[in-house]
Amino acid sequence: MTDQSTPTPPTTTFDSGIPAPEEDYSLTAGTDGPIALHDAYVVQKMQQFNRERVPERVVHAKGSGAHGYFEVTNDITRYTRASLFSEVGKRTEIIARFSQVAGEHGYPDTVRDPRGFSVKFYTEDGNWDLVGNNTPVFFMRDPAKFQHFIRSQKRLPDSGLRSNDMQWDFWTGSPESAHQVMILMSDHGTPASYATMNGYGSHTFSMENAAGEKVWVKYHFHADAGQHDFTDEEAGAHAGPDPDYLRRDLRDRIAEGDHPSWTLKIQVMPFEDAEGYRFNPFDVTKVWPHGDYPLIEVGRMVLDRNPDNFFAEIEQSAFSPSNIVPGLGLSPDKMLQGRIFSYHDTHLHRIGTNYQQLPVNASKAPVNSYNQDGAMRYAHSDGQPVYSPNSYGGPVSDTERGHDLTWSTEGGEIGRYAYVAHAEDDDFGQAGTLYRHVLSDEGREHAVTNIVGHVGDGVSPTIQRRALEYLTKIDAGLGAAVAKGLGVADGGEPAGADAPEPFGQAAGQGPAVDLRESETAGRA
Ligand code: NDP
Repeated sequence: MTDQSTPTPPTTTFDSGIPAPEEDYSLTAGTDGPIALHDAYVVQKMQQFNRERVPERVVHAKGSGAHGYFEVTNDITRYTRASLFSEVGKRTEIIARFSQVAGEHGYPDTVRDPRGFSVKFYTEDGNWDLVGNNTPVFFMRDPAKFQHFIRSQKRLPDSGLRSNDMQWDFWTGSPESAHQVMILMSDHGTPASYATMNGYGSHTFSMENAAGEKVWVKYHFHADAGQHDFTDEEAGAHAGPDPDYLRRDLRDRIAEGDHPSWTLKIQVMPFEDAEGYRFNPFDVTKVWPHGDYPLIEVGRMVLDRNPDNFFAEIEQSAFSPSNIVPGLGLSPDKMLQGRIFSYHDTHLHRIGTNYQQLPVNASKAPVNSYNQDGAMRYAHSDGQPVYSPNSYGGPVSDTERGHDLTWSTEGGEIGRYAYVAHAEDDDFGQAGTLYRHVLSDEGREHAVTNIVGHVGDGVSPTIQRRALEYLTKIDAGLGAAVAKGLGVADGGEPAGADAPEPFGQAAGQGPAVDLRESETAGRA
């Protein structure tokens, strides 16, 4: 907001700069007469108002963010030639956006959900976007299931209500979700502040050094102030009184000079380790245990500047995993490959063809692209040739500097495949490790009560039974504790026995069907 003490406010104008005639009264024929259509000022106010919103993101709709910088604190040039990591002490401007996943604009910030954790690094080689979450894994490993997953987390088609039944129906029908569900149901599902929340690139990425040597990489941001979560009860207590709790907390901290910071660390796997590693390293439902690949410090990210305009800088900020700079690369992770297409595409739809020209998204490195024109384009290449090759000095690719970071594949017949299972791959193992070995006694107790509260709220008996089987596969003690919490330890009816089956006979679609056998049949 502008300073309220400004002695002489500026003159209101049309968007064309013409002084406005009047703010409070429409132009009418006499005191009661109809409004004149040629009152362009009032008409244009209405027209602009009707167009004020861009479509909200279908996922990660509600976000908060701030500007800052990244500073290299440890030399990793043996792994990457990326210019932003070229020397200790080097600083790169960034913007970060944190978000809910399922909640829409206006949804309470503290409700249980994974959180988006996206960072745009404005490097001298163009923008690098690390578009991650506050969890190191994801609910599925193939983008073919993503739309189904998100719909199950959103709202029922008839009532417009959210439904725990849909969520557990999808999760229990998709056992690869177990690890992420376990994290979500721990207190990490209700972070107490964006400033004290860890972030992850989640996928496996790659790096290449100046000598052309390549490694696989995972990214971790550890909050320097430590990771702090709400209990389920605390999160619920904030949701009503202040739905914008996390947004306000982030803004207030930065305004007060309490600048949140994170240490960026990487795990590095030699290219040649991937094939024989005990977990398939490209399966985003798995972590690489720290004991196998220890964390290596890279640098520090600091957020020190709030946006001046939320819509321009946060709502219109657009992150895409396809923004990857020389020296950094992708991997065979199929979810990552799906996101390479999907994120850029959604911004084209949501903001427009030329969204990358908006100041928050614009590269600070020169842009010399043959892409041209389209709605709202204002930066252009003057008289530059519009085709390539040309004989008139148009840009030419630098195949050395910009070359693809590639890997070899076995190839084989085009088909629809599951990941090759490595020695210790299964859907429940790492989720069980988390429950048994990482969570404290208190963390385990909270996970149980969080799950009992969730499964006990509007989940039909069929799905409750499946949830208990699924949780028992994560850990027998967890399954038993949740069964006890639901009051079914003695084999009685699940607590939600009265809960309606949302896609049941009322909708003329018959009762819920156990989909697990057919769901898993196609997987190797
Ligand atoms: P470690 O003990 O070395 O690492 C455990 C990590 O678990 C911690 O560093 C922390 O990651 C994370 N963690 C702690 N509390 C929670 C929680 N409530 N929910 C989710 N994650 C939490 O063990 P390993 O590396 O051998 O991994 C063992 C298990 O730990 C894995 O199966 C996985 O479930 C979980 N885990 C491992 C991570 C990793 O990158 N190795 C990361 C996250 C979970 P951080 O400090 O990065 O937040």
